[in-house]
Amino acid sequence: MKIAVIGAGASGLAAALQAAWNGVNVTLFEHNDTIGRKLTVTGSGHCNLTNDSVDAASYACADPKWMSTLLSRLGVSELLEMLAKIGIPARKTEDGWYYPLSNSAHSVIQAFAYAAGQAGITLLTGRHVSGIAVNKNNGFAIRFSQGEKEFKADFDRVIVSTGGCAYPSLGSRGDLFPVLQKMGHDVLENRPALAPILVDTGSLKPLQGMRFDVKTALRKGGTMIAETSGNLIFTEWGLNGPAVMDISHHVTRHPAGTLELSMDFLAFFRDEFNRFLVANRNGSMTAAIFLNAFFAPKVVSTFLRAARVEGETTLSRMDNQSLDDLIDLLQNSRFPVKGVRDFTYCQVSAGGVPVTEVDPDTLESRQIKGLYLTGETLDVVGPCGGFNLHFAFGSGALAGMAAARRRV
Ligand SMILES: Cc1cc2nc3c(=O)[nH]c(=O)nc-3n(C[C@H](O)[C@H](O)[C@H](O)COP(=O)(O)OP(=O)(O)OC[C@H]3O[C@@H](n4cnc5c(N)ncnc54)[C@H](O)[C@@H]3O)c2cc1C
Repeated sequence: MKIAVIGAGASGLAAALQAAWNGVNVTLFEHNDTIGRKLTVTGSGHCNLTNDSVDAASYACADPKWMSTLLSRLGVSELLEMLAKIGIPARKTEDGWYYPLSNSAHSVIQAFAYAAGQAGITLLTGRHVSGIAVNKNNGFAIRFSQGEKEFKADFDRVIVSTGGCAYPSLGSRGDLFPVLQKMGHDVLENRPALAPILVDTGSLKPLQGMRFDVKTALRKGGTMIAETSGNLIFTEWGLNGPAVMDISHHVTRHPAGTLELSMDFLAFFRDEFNRFLVANRNGSMTAAIFLNAFFAPKVVSTFLRAARVEGETTLSRMDNQSLDDLIDLLQNSRFPVKGVRDFTYCQVSAGGVPVTEVDPDTLESRQIKGLYLTGETLDVVGPCGGFNLHFAFGSGALAGMAAARRRV
């Protein structure tokens, strides 16, 4: 049996290996000149492989039961075992994020490349796949090009692991979605996800370049749409970092100008803040020195100016209204949302083929037997922290095993 895997990213590499280990003839197509280009930039070059908190509820996926089924077949321990088998032992950070022991995304790619060679996979880099057609004998014809030359080759099974539209410079541009559509699949509009959020930072603009651990929420009118917590950085155009990226896929679902982002700067130390306030409310400590216990001086002066509080005022002299205004700014700053940064700057894309159109045990298309879809070609978004690579590797591995075992 001959299997074509299209796309040598995280998902396609896992699919190709599992299929080859299950004894079939595998050809892996990749239009870049090298495999795993996107892997090189993951986790800032360290490749955050998976996370102890991987579970169905963590993913934005239309059918949580679908995701549970998939994760029950390929959870964290199964993925770590597979990675260790090809020479990628992992280490875990205190907060449960897994990285290769080497701490290098390049070593992950080296290990996959070596394993692919050992498994006898035919690797065709520099080949752009432009068409997939169902043959009369139930197999598939793949149309691909190398430079100016066009080719056609027949396969019994095809695994499409071509990714979504995020970070197009590294190879995934969504160019096989029209092909999948023509074959009968629905393709939901691709939208940036895990993207920086464009907001007007208003009176907090001087915080540009400063990082915080905060709780954030997206609101429309009085209704909260999503919330998360983590690290973020103020930038010239808005906010970046997990505390906004993890909720950014909600932004593009709403018309521009209708959302507001709220931020709680006290979320990570509210008890200490309250205790310190009670201890000093009637004393001679100034507002500036009080805030100085929690924030850097540049941040303190920005907060005081934004809340119109004189830094030299002692806490005992501060009236309740001024104190309330200051605390409101610290735990409920609100920013009008203008949108998100585009595909060039986002880590994944939402949209693509709905998960309901593939079987979660095998990733086989429910419409076209013998066709498998994996990774970011499917409409699944995980938060920062290794969730997206887990899904890419996991869905690829399951598809590879299933495609190889399915009888021709
Ligand atoms: C900056 C950045 C940092 C990230 N960090 C992390 C992280 O630390 N942890 C994490 O979990 N996730 C991270 N992600 C997300 C993660 O990289 C993706 O979820 C994952 O790579 C998706 O894998 P995939 O195989 O589905 O798609 P891709 O990795 O996009 O692979 C698709 C492959 O298919 C090839 N291809 C596309 N079309 C064709 C065609 N027509 N013919 C031939 N080949 C084709 C592409 O060149 C590409 O190599 C990050 C993403 C970015 C951009």
